[in-house]
Amino acid sequence: MSSGHANAASDDITRDAIRRARAAIAEHERTVPDFPKPGILFRDLTPVLADTVGFSSIVTALTHGCSGIDLVAGIDARGFLVGGAVAQELGVGILAVRKGGKLPPPVYGVDYDLEYGQGRLEIPASGIDISGSRILVVDDVLATGGTAVAASKLMDLAGASVVGVAVIMELADLGGRAKIAGELGPDVSLHAITDDR
Ligand code: AMP
Repeated sequence: MSSGHANAASDDITRDAIRRARAAIAEHERTVPDFPKPGILFRDLTPVLADTVGFSSIVTALTHGCSGIDLVAGIDARGFLVGGAVAQELGVGILAVRKGGKLPPPVYGVDYDLEYGQGRLEIPASGIDISGSRILVVDDVLATGGTAVAASKLMDLAGASVVGVAVIMELADLGGRAKIAGELGPDVSLHAITDDR
């Protein structure tokens, strides 16, 4: 695997993108009560990503502070949309972290708890060598942090290490930030463009 340069745009550019992304999120985000289960307030960022300014500002904003990244890992499925574009902006490749059962064997797999159920993430265990890579995990929403931690464990299984997690929105009361710090250590950066407060 070739190693990327992985330099984000200048701080001024990414800070401006964060400002524009927050405005686009405020304008276009759709919140859906009791989906997919009673008591869950679902944050649907689909309309933001369908907006030209929303998508481009989110992609640039997600690169804020990134340096020394070799590979982006996008989480199934909305993390694929932004993850690929973030990888392009950082000048590195993209790895799709799939939900269980989508990939042919052999796979690395990790089971984990979700805000609303159980999940499993997998990546190929053959045909790709990410050992030694410094990885940025990208997803749309950070809730309990279980998905990001599971993705990090997957990268460990493959001999790579997660150095940062970048999400569009952090659900601040669900403990994801503390879980990432507690399980992945203080050196793993967490960058959220916005939160739900
Ligand atoms: P968690 O593992 O609890 O941090 O959950 C994060 C994953 O579940 C992300 O892939 C999100 O897309 C999804 N998710 C969890 N809670 C929500 C929510 N309230 N609204 C939208 N997506 C969510």
